Amino acid sequence: MQTEQRDLLQQKDEQYIWHSMKRYNPSTMVVKSADGSWITDKEGKKYLDGMAGLWSVNVGYGRKELAQAAYSQLKELPYYPLTQSHQPAIDLGEKLNQWLGGDYVIFFSNSGSEANETAFKIARQYHQQKGEQGRYKFIARYRGYHGNSMGALAATGQAQRKYKYEPLGQGFLHVAPPDSYRFPDYHNAESYSEECASEIDRVMTWELSESIAGVIMEPIITGGGVLIPHDSYMKKVKEICEKHGALLISDEVINGFGRTGKAFGFMNYGVQPDIVTMAKGITSSYLPLSATAVKREIYEAFKGDGEYDHFRHVNTFGGNPACCAVALKNLEIMENENLIDRSREKGAELLKELSELEEHPYVGNVRGKGLLFGIELVQDKRTKVPLSVEQVNGVISACKAKGLLIGKNGDTVAGYNNVLTLAPPLNITDEDAAFLV
Ligand code: PLP
Repeated sequence: MQTEQRDLLQQKDEQYIWHSMKRYNPSTMVVKSADGSWITDKEGKKYLDGMAGLWSVNVGYGRKELAQAAYSQLKELPYYPLTQSHQPAIDLGEKLNQWLGGDYVIFFSNSGSEANETAFKIARQYHQQKGEQGRYKFIARYRGYHGNSMGALAATGQAQRKYKYEPLGQGFLHVAPPDSYRFPDYHNAESYSEECASEIDRVMTWELSESIAGVIMEPIITGGGVLIPHDSYMKKVKEICEKHGALLISDEVINGFGRTGKAFGFMNYGVQPDIVTMAKGITSSYLPLSATAVKREIYEAFKGDGEYDHFRHVNTFGGNPACCAVALKNLEIMENENLIDRSREKGAELLKELSELEEHPYVGNVRGKGLLFGIELVQDKRTKVPLSVEQVNGVISACKAKGLLIGKNGDTVAGYNNVLTLAPPLNITDEDAAFLV
């Protein structure tokens, strides 16, 4: 009976569900339940979720408080659009401001992609409001991922995701990411980060400063292979933005909410971005919500009373009351349980332990910040030739067979998909962390 049921579920899955990022008619795992850092599939097999879903279930699974927060709010006020207002959105706006450590105004949406689209529209209109009509271009980095929609995908620097959907949004340019493992021989990690930042300066000059709206960057590129820049890089990019009159947009969709050992990734690098986009960890992904936080002076530029002076942008679900209530409870849990400190401290401990893997002939580099790690697999440590896709898949399958789910990433266009990724829940227990290592 159980086998029949199992087969039926699988059959229906194949019949009805179009999966993300999978080849035609894939065999998938049907997940039934989850608790702490563990998920359970429909056969009852448990796996430690080394990726916290999609780098996003920051407070772990099974948090009844979050279910309760959604339930209570759905009973009280299930919905009202943010053309008007409601308390959960107001409270969350205030709380996010505290977390951001600056004076920001918040626009709510539903996904990371939308948060970035919103940021691009705000940035372009901001410059126009100030009389700089020609500023429309954005600079992003190769290997960065910023979302699946036509603008956010245009900002993405991964050709494999864009090919077949082009032309996308116009005006997006790309520069090299600061890869602190793979850099030309005449550089070291610091000088290469410096060089990558300088490239942004040069591109802005060559393209004309007056045409540049902004730069979008994750403080640490995640989906392109966990690329941790030298500490000086983001600050330099901010200075370059200021020099050319461009806005700095920090994509904190993964970096944010404690993942890198600080409330937001930019806090590791001593900068205060003009716009901050966030999603995933804002609700630990229990419900969909995203936000675009904009420095007050940018918001102020929209205060004219001309027909087109306000931000002509609306979405139906953004800032849904139940999603905001869950986000508030999620942030409260993170505060009460000191999960940012936990991420930083446990992350440093784990990095030390994982770094011992560098003694293995196929492990070229282990890197991490907070509870975010990349383990780069190579055939040869000197030449850094990546391990083949089949071998990397073999490692992932072996981990799964032992009950551990991990991710993989890299520069797939260049043929590297050789970085194992880890981003477990921030409250992973010591015992589970030991199992992971
Ligand atoms: N930005 C970054 C850095 C991401 O990693 C992602 C998704 O993984 C996005 C934006 C897009 O977020 P969403 O999938 O919620 O649209």
